[in-house]
Amino acid sequence: PPRSTLFPYTTLFRSSAAEIAIMREAGRINAEALEAAKAAIAPGVSTLELNEAVEAVHRKYGVYSPFKNYPGPYPFPASICASVNEELVHGIPDKRKLKEGDIVSIDCGTVYQGFVGDSAFTVGVGEITPLAQKLIEVTKQALDAAIAQMVPGNHLGDIGAAVEALVLKHGFHVTHLYTGHGVGREMHESPMVPNYGQPGQGILLREGMTLAIEPMVLVGTRYTRELKNQWTVISRDRSLTAHQEHTVAIRANGPEILTQL
Ligand code: MG
Ligand code: MG
Repeated sequence: PPRSTLFPYTTLFRSSAAEIAIMREAGRINAEALEAAKAAIAPGVSTLELNEAVEAVHRKYGVYSPFKNYPGPYPFPASICASVNEELVHGIPDKRKLKEGDIVSIDCGTVYQGFVGDSAFTVGVGEITPLAQKLIEVTKQALDAAIAQMVPGNHLGDIGAAVEALVLKHGFHVTHLYTGHGVGREMHESPMVPNYGQPGQGILLREGMTLAIEPMVLVGTRYTRELKNQWTVISRDRSLTAHQEHTVAIRANGPEILTQL
């Protein structure tokens, strides 16, 4: 997810029905790739192996991930972000093995015919603690609550307010530093979509907008820091974190999730 303080994009795009159809296919392939990663998750499996599972699906369709070589302190080196436990987002896949009781977030994008699907999930590895289960469940509910606000005539602040209210109600926290975003021909387009906001405030939501909605939830506080690799974002207090994301189109009759099978 982009850093809110560095968000450089200004043009608000809206997609036609034909463009949304292409994004639906990008999203479907992305979901298949994420399912392949999910199916491979087990104690003893490395996050690099999960990256390979995603790349195998991408190769099958002749598509690629916009994460690979994404500009930053140095080009992002993988097709997915794999973020374990206190890692909130932007974890780099490596040979570290997952352990029973970990929770892991996999974030993945797919470029298909020039359009992007972007989605993420968090799951437990084997048996996890009740706290970890609750964190994952609340993060999913926050995503659902946000998506329900994506109807023409609502405002951007309604999305963030829905996420924030649900997460705070359960005693958890949302980052203010990383946000969801517009998504279409580029992975990161305007507007940025914060996980907090005021109902009825911000830009008007209109038919054809396609947004990546991504609650990023922390157990301890909302504060984060970056690891020395300059990508991985962790909770500052090293408490558990979770992340859930869908690419969603605002249609005349309400939201359509594009990143699903
Ligand atoms: Mg995203
Ligand atoms: Mg993503």
